[in-house]
Amino acid sequence: MSEQNPLLELPFQIPFTAIQAAHVEPAMQVLLARAEERLEAIAAPHAVRTWDNTMAALDAMSEDLDVAFAVVRHLEAAATSPELREAFGKIEPLVMAFYARIPLHEGLWRAVQEFAATGEAKGLTGVRKRYLDKTIQNFLRSGAGLSPEDKKKMEALDVELAELTTKFSQNVLDATNEFEHVVTDEAMLKGLPPSAVDAARESAKAKGLEGWRFTLQAPSYTPVLTYLDHAPTREKFYRAYMSRCSGGTRDNRELVLKILELRTRKASMLGFADFSDLVLEDRMAGRGERAWQFLLDLRAKTEPFFERENAELLAFRRELEGPSAPALQPWDVSYYAEKLRQARYDFDEEQLRPYFPMERVLAGMYELVERLYGVTVERDPAVAGWDPAVLYYRLKDSDGAFLGGFYADWYPRENKRGGAWMDAFRTGGPTAAGFVPHLGLMCGNMNPPVGGKPALLTHRDVETVFHEFGHLLHHLLSKVELRGLAGTNVAWDFVELPSQIMENWCWEREALDLFARHYETGEALPEELFRKMKAARTFRAANAQMRQLSFGVTDLALHRHYDAARDGDVVAYSKAILQQYSAAPLPDDHAMIAGFTHVFASPVGYAAGYYSYKWAEVLDADAFSLFREKGVFSREAGMRFRGTILERGDSEDPAQLFRALMGRDPDPAALLERAGLVA
Ligand SMILES: [Zn+2]
Repeated sequence: MSEQNPLLELPFQIPFTAIQAAHVEPAMQVLLARAEERLEAIAAPHAVRTWDNTMAALDAMSEDLDVAFAVVRHLEAAATSPELREAFGKIEPLVMAFYARIPLHEGLWRAVQEFAATGEAKGLTGVRKRYLDKTIQNFLRSGAGLSPEDKKKMEALDVELAELTTKFSQNVLDATNEFEHVVTDEAMLKGLPPSAVDAARESAKAKGLEGWRFTLQAPSYTPVLTYLDHAPTREKFYRAYMSRCSGGTRDNRELVLKILELRTRKASMLGFADFSDLVLEDRMAGRGERAWQFLLDLRAKTEPFFERENAELLAFRRELEGPSAPALQPWDVSYYAEKLRQARYDFDEEQLRPYFPMERVLAGMYELVERLYGVTVERDPAVAGWDPAVLYYRLKDSDGAFLGGFYADWYPRENKRGGAWMDAFRTGGPTAAGFVPHLGLMCGNMNPPVGGKPALLTHRDVETVFHEFGHLLHHLLSKVELRGLAGTNVAWDFVELPSQIMENWCWEREALDLFARHYETGEALPEELFRKMKAARTFRAANAQMRQLSFGVTDLALHRHYDAARDGDVVAYSKAILQQYSAAPLPDDHAMIAGFTHVFASPVGYAAGYYSYKWAEVLDADAFSLFREKGVFSREAGMRFRGTILERGDSEDPAQLFRALMGRDPDPAALLERAGLVA
């Protein structure tokens, strides 16, 4: 191994370009060995168990491993290569196995129990008491109470689950990239907005092709389904997308079954009725049944509006095409919905793009958080990321204190996965030696600048940028002394509150005026356009809500009810559920779950937890009412949100944090009202 493996001693600013695939394996082996050594040192017999030599040591034990692993995982997601993917594929199971082994380590379990019996432990309060209590629960949930033989089985099971889910995820990425549709006849582009046509042109050029190239990546796929007049092409795209990984060399169907089977086996070994009860013990919902009822309750409240919307859409098509126009197919729904939206509101979302140039959106968002939370964001062009397109920023408190740094990477690349996400590199916080800054990142796949124009976003893109930045603030503003309870390390059904609440500002006139300006004229968003945008917000809200509920219900059904022997083919089983929430009959080759990365691309991820998006929407809609009441730029409300939520991580029960913010428990009425789903 080279003596200059950068992953071994990472400075605060990570030298991304110096990190090569060949560094990954040797560095991770060394860091794993170091973490093992520290683990054994904590677990070894101690004359006196103290907070410092047991719990604090446990919290700090794997920090350098965590950071290096986060960096490698990130590079695999945002700057991958065949070599890096291979190296990651080798080390990921080892690292996951190490993490999985921690709560199964008998000496460590003994050490934690010995400490828990001390007077020091009994006198703990606040975050330290919570850390001890949660550690004990986590150990038990991970199998600390199992026999040595069963512990071995559990370890092997976790490793297998990590491998299978990684394979699932790579299959989806590859299957998505494999598809392309090249158009050479301009007439076949009819209906598409110029931005989609330009992007397709650039994509073709980049591949050395004539014409226009379309893919299954969201910025290409979504406009095709929404605007393209040619129905057979929409059908082709829809079927290609919804049948990804349901056959051929990238078949995920067998993986889905195996993943579900392993999860069920795991829950049963630990004494839980099913996987949802195991996962939700540590969540705000507490139990699978509560999440299930939460979704069914929302479904019942949404269904009448959903049926009305579907009838309206069919009637609209028949208005356009005559009374014998056929019923809608799934690839028609977005298309006619967009036409109906335009007819009803004379509003085309594309009209908004010129008002949302990326740079202004970012500047406005940073100004917003300065007003609300008293923090400033400064760009530093001298700090390099993992690609020349990556930007670096510093976040400072009102007194100038450096709270943390973050990277932003907004445009698609071949070596980058789809979607938008936030991740943490380093978790800082208060220490005896002072405050240690955090380091994180946010990524997206927006339409890049083309033809000399700046990147112009859709309003949904703007919400996505705000959303990911909300996650990042949760990380960067954390003031929790323990890494394990800091920042976004919170219950999964609580983690979307800081992100989703940010989206609310994208709908407020005063907030939009900070950044929504025409990229050529500098003109503010015209009032008429704003009014239409607001009116369109609740357009087909029941369909949007049913879609989210369909994913949540399918996910819980798979992890609570599905029995392969009784229920048969898992794709057909899931399709039957999804059908109940769909505006159109799903085609035979529909196999959405074979590409359902939220639930199957990692050992837990959103498995049995997809409901948490809606759950968090209840929280965010409700919490935003504080800003409605005090003003959308209210520093008072902002500082209360910062102090009770953004700085607190998981240092207290999330239900308690929410009460500290609002003075009461969450109320779902605000969500239904915001969506226009009230009679
Ligand atoms: Zn999120």
